[in-house]
This record gives sequence, C-alpha cells and structure tokens, in this order.
Amino acid sequence: MRRAGRSLSFPHFLPQPSRTPLIVLSLALLPTILFALLAATPWRDAAAEGGDGVAAGIELPGLESAALPYAEQPAPAIERLVMVQAETWDATSRRNIEDALALLPSGVQAELGNPALGPIFILVNSEGMTLSGRQPYGRAANFYSTNEGRNEVVLYPNQSPKTALHELGHAFNLRRTQPGAYAQVFLDPEMQAFMAAAGWRVLTSTETLRGLRDHTHVELAYDGPSVWTQLSRNDPLEDFANSFALYFVAPDDLRSLSPARYDWFAARFAQ
Ligand SMILES: [Zn+2]
Repeated sequence: MRRAGRSLSFPHFLPQPSRTPLIVLSLALLPTILFALLAATPWRDAAAEGGDGVAAGIELPGLESAALPYAEQPAPAIERLVMVQAETWDATSRRNIEDALALLPSGVQAELGNPALGPIFILVNSEGMTLSGRQPYGRAANFYSTNEGRNEVVLYPNQSPKTALHELGHAFNLRRTQPGAYAQVFLDPEMQAFMAAAGWRVLTSTETLRGLRDHTHVELAYDGPSVWTQLSRNDPLEDFANSFALYFVAPDDLRSLSPARYDWFAARFAQ
C-alpha cells in the first residue's frame, strides 16, 4: 500500500477555475467544465474516517449539505470520460487506466457515473485532489465522488487497472444516486438485488433511509461467507466495487471466490 502522508501543495493543479488550463479529450467539453467549475457548490470536508484508500479504496466522502442542483439538469451529449491533464500523468498511470477502460464494454462505459452530472472526470495526483483543488481526505486517496456536483474519479499515480476499475465500479453503482447522498443507493433496486445475492441486509427502515445521505450511517447485516480481505470498509458499496473490478479484470477469480457475485454481474451485463 502506498501512501503519501505529506501534505504537499500542488500549485499547478487547477488553482483557479477562471484561469485553469484544462486539458481534456475534446474541446467540446469546455463549456460544460467551465459551467461546472463556476457553479461548484460549497464543500463540506469528509468525515475523519479512512483516507487510506490508495490500495483498498476509501471513497465516497460523506456530505451532509442539501441536494445539489445538478441532479435536475439533463445529461449533456458529450464524452463520458474525461482524462484531466492526462499529458502530465506518468506512463504507468496512463497505461493502467487505458487498460482498465479497455476491459469495460462500451455499454458499461456509457453507464458510468450520474448522467445528470456530466462526464466522469478522471484525475491522477498524489494529493487526493479533486478538480476544484479540494482534498476531501487531506492526503492521497483513491475515490469516486459526486460531492462537488461532478462525477470525479481521483487516483493516486501508478494504480493498477483493478484499482481504477474499483473506482469506476462506484461510478456505475452510484449512477442513479443523488449527488453526495450515497446512502440513497440502498433504495436502488439494482443495488438491492446485488446485496440480496451477496448476502447483505439493510436493517435501517426504508423510511429512515429516505432521509439519510451518509451511507456509513446505515445499519447493515451480512449473512454471506467471507470473501474480501482488503476492503477498507466492510460495506456493500465496497463489496460492489470490488466485485465489479474483479468481474472485468479476472472473471474466473470472481467466479471461484464468489459464484453468487459472479452470477449476478454476469446476468446484469448479459442484458
Ligand atoms: Zn471503494
């Protein structure tokens, strides 16, 4: 596991939205990016939990603010994936992320992230820094976040394709979930079906669940066998992301590790 405990400044990384040189895959994305930056909502720092997500993934910083307005906006017809300043990435990071994306069928790529929030911004940096320059964990971390009204995957350099796919698995899992309100994913029938297959039960009442945003506040029970040894948190969102990644990186491994999870993903992506 690699960590960067130092708090490094990163002055060349998107310091000000108004003069930020965004290098993106398509110039057609610029209006969307500028709008997103200018309209960025106030940030609430993540809960103090975790932050060691470089290998196993601490993701999804909690947010308690009100719903973001982006959820009500129609999806723009643009590229789904935007590599931010990819020319500055090291070769290994670039290759690994390209390898990860190559493992995803185009139909799955098209379903990554909340479409109301525009494209998936993929960032690689050592500071766990989002597009706005904020650091929800204050240090290096791998995570997917919609806390700032954007789909953002932030990766530490040199992460494996599997780790990149783990974060993209969150982006898939949370594509219909209100920005920053990750607890709401437990109301998504698809997630409910995955959890039933894997052996998870939600103990929190549906009524209470509807008012929750932080998924770590949801009471859960797990009845299935022990499957994962390197989850940063033993929760269904991590389980889903791990299963998603392994399904595409090494499907035979997932099949032997957990036939129930393999069968669920195979059925889901055979549709
Ligand atoms: Zn994760």
